[in-house]
Amino acid sequence: MAYDVKKTEDEWREELTPEQFEVLRGKATERAWTGELLDEERAGIYACAACGAELFKSGTKFDSHCGWPSFYESVRPDAVELIEDKSHGMDRTEVRCAACGGHLGHVFPDGFGTPTGDRYCMNSLSLNFAPDEG
Ligand SMILES: [Zn+2]
Repeated sequence: MAYDVKKTEDEWREELTPEQFEVLRGKATERAWTGELLDEERAGIYACAACGAELFKSGTKFDSHCGWPSFYESVRPDAVELIEDKSHGMDRTEVRCAACGGHLGHVFPDGFGTPTGDRYCMNSLSLNFAPDEG
């Protein structure tokens, strides 16, 4: 897929913190229960930490007790890119930012009790939260 936001790995390395780079460009996963956005409950929008594209609304965030910020759907279906991921001996679906290709996390079909049944299990490091004004 060709991304609208295209930068070299060196450019990303300069713009992102080392921790963000590891996740967004290296597909690392932050340790469970360590993410800054895990307990964020204010109304607002979650955007890609790499390129600023809007990805999730606060209203779709739910407490999944999995240790990472979880959402049941993206702000628009085309805001994220879903890619089959068979790494680490698991059969998972990787979620990337559709604008820049940055790794966000994975989506699992175990969002029990949510309108979609999906659980977008995201890294806090991949997201920037902007609370609604007022
Ligand atoms: Zn992005």
